[in-house]
Amino acid sequence: MNSRFIYLDNNSTTQCAPEVVEAIVPFFREKFGNPASPHYYGRTAGKSIALARELIADCVCCSPTEVIFTSGATESNNLSILGVAQSVLKKRKIVTSTVEHKSVLGPCAALQSKGYTICRVPVENGGQINLNKLKAEVDEDTLLLSVQAANNETGVIQPVGDIADVAHSCGALFHCDAAQALGKIPVSVNEFRADLLSFSSHKAYGPKGIGFLVVRESLKKFLSAPLMYGGGQEDYLRPGTLNVPGVVGLGAACKLCKEFTVPDMAKIGKLRAKIEERIARIFPNAQIICRLADRLPGTSNIIFPGIPADLLLARAPLLCMSIGSACNSGTLLPSHVLLALNIPSDLARCAIRISLGRYNTEDDVNIALSHLESAIKQIQ
Ligand code: PMP
Repeated sequence: MNSRFIYLDNNSTTQCAPEVVEAIVPFFREKFGNPASPHYYGRTAGKSIALARELIADCVCCSPTEVIFTSGATESNNLSILGVAQSVLKKRKIVTSTVEHKSVLGPCAALQSKGYTICRVPVENGGQINLNKLKAEVDEDTLLLSVQAANNETGVIQPVGDIADVAHSCGALFHCDAAQALGKIPVSVNEFRADLLSFSSHKAYGPKGIGFLVVRESLKKFLSAPLMYGGGQEDYLRPGTLNVPGVVGLGAACKLCKEFTVPDMAKIGKLRAKIEERIARIFPNAQIICRLADRLPGTSNIIFPGIPADLLLARAPLLCMSIGSACNSGTLLPSHVLLALNIPSDLARCAIRISLGRYNTEDDVNIALSHLESAIKQIQ
């Protein structure tokens, strides 16, 4: 059997595109300036930041002035939720969903302990938010509605534009965690109609430790109280010397995403269909989570009843993929996302997540399937 590692974990992180690596290197060498400096080195870095900002804005359809660089989606989510709560708007209710990332649920919980009302709307078994249930929760007291564009575990895509309309019809702001959308499906800030959007570069073939928050121009006046104080970078919303190599890499990654997301989707979608068809044929009792939902083309979360996912990974050590549970103090706890889909804990422990990306090939899929088959047969 083939003895190379097969990377099937693109929702955790993606490989930096070779073009991105090439674009970054000079910023660790001769182009090392601080973009805030007034001299040649500073101006060189500053021009590259401005170009990257334009490439990013062009990729997600917003204005360059609306792009605020952060360290990634975790920081962007925190900055959005805590920043809005600290704004001049005095309402104290936030509505979100049960399947959000912990970097959304965490700041919401922190605000709850300070007296905010947090409403976590459940999703349907198909993984999508029910718009009527959402409408019933969003009211005149709602400050912010925060819902992700796509789920990292199931790949389910939410009807973001419709969700934005629900928020706006009650005068609430809408924040969208779009970390899993960039590079995987087309993203348009205008079509998403969000006021704030969070992104991470490393989920879209860029470097780690850099991301951005889109803050619509009309909203900036409300976010007058930043979470951190320092220099005036990023409109005072996120002070600190910019991560120039990171920003340049993110710009290069966004340029590629603009060109390749749609062709990538077609290629990756075919690879996933092959995996899901073959698994359904060989293991008829396997369950593909939210199979019929609108999903990211490369994400497949599969339950093999009776086969614990950690054991499966141990028997297929060349397959690099995620499982539906995480180790907490020595015990495997099923993910909150799978539990929110009403999947019983014992089945959630048998879930593996395959997430394909731009660099996966047909060969990867064939090898992965044969490793999976032999691991499952050994366990059975
Ligand atoms: N939101 C979602 C939906 C994610 O999948 C992730 C990363 N798993 C994040 C936010 C946080 O991204 P980062 O770790 O890059 O800050």
